[in-house]
Amino acid sequence: MITIDGPAGTGKSSVAHHLAERLGLEFLDTGAMYRGAALIAIEAGLAPDDGPNLATAIRAAHLHFDWTVDPPELRVGVRSISRRIRDADVSEVVSIVATQPAVRQVMVERQRRIAAEHPRLVTEGRDQGSVVFPDAPVRFYLHADVAVRADRRLSQLAAMGQPGDRAQVMHRIRERDRIDSTRKDGPLIRPEGAIDVDTSDRTLDQVVEHLEAIVRRELPYAGFADP
Ligand code: C5P
Repeated sequence: MITIDGPAGTGKSSVAHHLAERLGLEFLDTGAMYRGAALIAIEAGLAPDDGPNLATAIRAAHLHFDWTVDPPELRVGVRSISRRIRDADVSEVVSIVATQPAVRQVMVERQRRIAAEHPRLVTEGRDQGSVVFPDAPVRFYLHADVAVRADRRLSQLAAMGQPGDRAQVMHRIRERDRIDSTRKDGPLIRPEGAIDVDTSDRTLDQVVEHLEAIVRRELPYAGFADP
């Protein structure tokens, strides 16, 4: 078990996915799970801060990953929602949904169950090394300057043919950071004892290589895939 936490725009998801691939591990995107919860709220017409009812709706919705594809695909029943959860309406409310203790309780429970079934895991999110898996043998905390994170987001948007406004993108990132790091339950923090990695001046490949070297050094007998 390897955990990677940090704010949006640090490249966490891509880093976690590539790191898992290189080490021959599986990859869990817990942000996708919260996005799935936000989509369930939107489609059920529930307020994003209606925690108890949301938790009930999530439990009833059969939100799960299809592990037969790589990266695992998020589904509600048989419907794939991996793309839909990246839409703006979901991004808009996901942080509010994620402040709800009743929702976090369901998610944390599910993440631990997933880890029991898929123990060779690289998991990424905001609370993986602090709350969900504090005993993981290697835990990372990724961060980057907000301007760099905004530029990465703008490049992603441009690649999807959606030019964005830099000031607005920066504002949204700051707002999401604020909500994520000030909530009472499972806030975004650097877990105590986690390895701090600044990704501002590193490419994706450089970050992955850096993390891979640390993991191989820290866990020499873990039986990872050959480099
Ligand atoms: O990682 P991503 O940006 O997709 O996460 C979306 C949102 O889900 C975050 O802004 C945060 O509010 C929430 N989240 C969380 N705990 C996690 C992962 C994500 O609260 N472990």
